[in-house]
Amino acid sequence: MKVKLRNPDREVELAGGRKVHVILGELGIDPDTVLVIRERELLTREDRCAEADRIEIRPVISGGSGSSHTSNRMKCRRCKAPAVLEVRRHNAAFCRDCFLRHVREQVKRAIEAYDMLHAQDRILVAVSGGKDSLALWDLLLDLGYRADGLYLGLGIGDYSSRSAELVRSFAAERNARLIEIALTEEYGFDIPTAGRKGSRSTCAVCGLSKRYVFNKTAREHGYDVVATGHNLDDEAATLLGNTLRWQTDYIARQFPALPAEEGLARKVKPLYRLSELETAAYAFLRGIDYVVEECPLVAGNTQLRYKEAMNRLEATSPGTKAQFFLSYLDRAAPLFATQDDADLRPCERCDQPTTGRFCAFCRAQAQILGERLGELPGDRELVGQLSDEVMPAELYGAASQ
Ligand code: SF4
Ligand SMILES: [Zn+2]
Ligand SMILES: [Zn+2]
Repeated sequence: MKVKLRNPDREVELAGGRKVHVILGELGIDPDTVLVIRERELLTREDRCAEADRIEIRPVISGGSGSSHTSNRMKCRRCKAPAVLEVRRHNAAFCRDCFLRHVREQVKRAIEAYDMLHAQDRILVAVSGGKDSLALWDLLLDLGYRADGLYLGLGIGDYSSRSAELVRSFAAERNARLIEIALTEEYGFDIPTAGRKGSRSTCAVCGLSKRYVFNKTAREHGYDVVATGHNLDDEAATLLGNTLRWQTDYIARQFPALPAEEGLARKVKPLYRLSELETAAYAFLRGIDYVVEECPLVAGNTQLRYKEAMNRLEATSPGTKAQFFLSYLDRAAPLFATQDDADLRPCERCDQPTTGRFCAFCRAQAQILGERLGELPGDRELVGQLSDEVMPAELYGAASQ
């Protein structure tokens, strides 16, 4: 039996005639972190592979612990048909149709719980070409919302070209509107250059650029709200990172919905109740072609370490991630809610909100391009002096990205 593994791509030959969980166990792969695909079909841990099969093991989460366990042949919790996917934290398995319904219900529940979206809203979906953002766009269109896409070209070689292609064909197939902005054309730098020349890590400047461009574009084009594809794994990992450093201001603002403020668009995360495995399975089952390869610059992403730590806990205690993040929202978030009294004013260069003269993005950009900020004679504000001013966290708080 041939098994194709991804990231890095390779193929191994293994003995067939065995159940998926046995094969994953032999490979030391945690079943909660991968989709197992045969032809166009998903396999559960209890499905058996034949000698002649070719299967693909596609990671949905970086990292993994190698644990696996057995249970009875899986049937859909709702209709008792053979299951295609097991969601261990709900202690349930679903057939294709019931799983898609489960995902839609979770998203509707998220939208209602935080009054995220209204029927007449113009929504700007931040799409990267990955599973989460394309699944989100698909779900919102499917639920009847007026959702356009925004793709920011980061200039990361083949990875960016491939992502852009997938986003374009997704939009074309659905006749959906896509706004494209290229960092290099618009702002004069790409992310690999930013990583080499700036004082921030590559992922920090990438995260800052995304939040900046999403907010700016939403306001300039008259959108009511920006929707991002952050899932439960992302939110749990970010919360863990913020908690380990007790960044109480970031913790306070880590919410699935943030209202519009002076200069800041409303922001929502309708996938916060769904794990990465669920969004990946949703994208696959809906036939969404998303970019499977990881960003080549991901090694510097600190959030991945927190994801790996959460995955290890999840492998032995399913439900930990959901409990950590969802209980935070229910029980702990009110304790962190503080008066957000940062006095925002427009950046002197770009008009986006900031507490200083120049916003964090303009300062990072000037530093990367080797420019000086400030036109007044005798101005001493040199580029590269990134101060510790209080910034609106959802725009500038690149805590762990
Ligand atoms: S891994 Fe880092 S550089 Fe790559 S897209 Fe994500 S945040 Fe940007
Ligand atoms: Zn079913
Ligand atoms: Zn600015």
